[in-house]
Amino acid sequence: MMEFTHCPCGQGQYSSCCEPLHLGKAKAETAEQLMRSRYSAFAKQQVDYIVATTAIGQQAQLDRAALLSWSIDNAWQQLEILNSVPRVDASHAMVEFKAYYSDGQARIHHEQSYFVKHQNAWYFIDPTLQTFPSMKHACLCGSEKKFKHCCATFIR
Ligand code: ZN
Repeated sequence: MMEFTHCPCGQGQYSSCCEPLHLGKAKAETAEQLMRSRYSAFAKQQVDYIVATTAIGQQAQLDRAALLSWSIDNAWQQLEILNSVPRVDASHAMVEFKAYYSDGQARIHHEQSYFVKHQNAWYFIDPTLQTFPSMKHACLCGSEKKFKHCCATFIR
């Protein structure tokens, strides 16, 4: 009998939900699916996946050690999707969610995240990093547009 392991994102069995994405055997088809799989990746300490699903031009700035301790130090309890807008514009989407976790104390992380589609894959746009391209330079997502005409709009 196959063992049933709940997917951290709350949508059924891990092996048929976020695990294939974490293993690189499937790709998120929507920004919401990517968001779910990134939450699950924190719960399952899949730091490579967190990095690989952040906007291409931002990956080098990520602190892998910090991501790993953040994922280990918290107990990931539940994900609640509050709102999902699959097309904010031609290549961007928005997902609003609450992540319930505990670092000894019950906490809720409430966020509106923006995602960009590049060459048929979805990526998270991290608004918290230190440096961004200048407005006239190529966008961080890998598109050939200027930053100001692409992802800049979604970073506040
Ligand atoms: Zn962009």
